[in-house]
Amino acid sequence: MFQKSKKLINAAIFEKHQEIFRCPLCKESMQVIHLQSLVCSNQHCFDIAKQGYVNLLSRGISTKYDKKNFEYRRLFSKDGLFDPLYGAVSRIIMNHHSSNEPVRMLDAGCGEGSHLDNIQTEINRIKPMDLLAVGIDISKEGIRFAATGNPSSIWCVADIANCPFSSQKFKFILNILSPANYTEFQRLLSNHGLVIKVVPDQDYLKELREILYLRSDKQTYSNSLTINHFNKHFNLIDAGSVRYQVNLSEQLIEPLLGMTPLSWGTSEERIEKILQLNLKQVTMDFKVLIGLVKNKPHDLNR
Ligand SMILES: [Zn+2]
Repeated sequence: MFQKSKKLINAAIFEKHQEIFRCPLCKESMQVIHLQSLVCSNQHCFDIAKQGYVNLLSRGISTKYDKKNFEYRRLFSKDGLFDPLYGAVSRIIMNHHSSNEPVRMLDAGCGEGSHLDNIQTEINRIKPMDLLAVGIDISKEGIRFAATGNPSSIWCVADIANCPFSSQKFKFILNILSPANYTEFQRLLSNHGLVIKVVPDQDYLKELREILYLRSDKQTYSNSLTINHFNKHFNLIDAGSVRYQVNLSEQLIEPLLGMTPLSWGTSEERIEKILQLNLKQVTMDFKVLIGLVKNKPHDLNR
């Protein structure tokens, strides 16, 4: 039986939504040509990969995250470790979008895509809406993973400091445990658009920190600088906490250490110690910041 290739299915989705794109090199509008490539009016051309994503970086960039980190994060998502967080973010979106109008949500720094996938699934389960999910990440490895997820989403390798989208195309921007670029977020949000930023709160993985950063100032975690910085760019309309304990099976301990930057730069002995302690539970503690886009000058339309 004839089956449409993944590339063609995704190319059709890119084509349907091609108006959201702008060339990362010259900022002109883009079109999908022959279900093969995204091309701007100056002929800058970005091919749709056979896995169904587009790489919109002009050059390769190496990132700290490797393939194993993405595998670990996916494992945790599958195991439900982020489920309460997904529930909280989904409720924010549903509470702030009450009409039947189509709506777009961008995950800026989506990694291997499981946060965006799970949030979209949760929204569809509770209150189905015409929602386009777009995920971008600077890591090609991450986007390759992501493209195996929800087939109706758009996945791009792209730089959050130079997003390949026209201005004001998104009602929601998610920024989950990932660096931000608020100037770009401000540009991309539509009127009344929201940034939903998730940062670790002070008890996040505290069981690990107590061991890894013994007698160092990193043992306690403060996100006050992050929140202040957020406040300068958006009207903070809410800041909620999501805090819960998760059970860790033995098989998940090593991946947990591998997933988190907490383990970077600490000694092998401490990592070994955590493995020996056979940690059974760990605290997940997040702050969810909701920022409303500030009023924009009228000349900012592209
Ligand atoms: Zn161009």
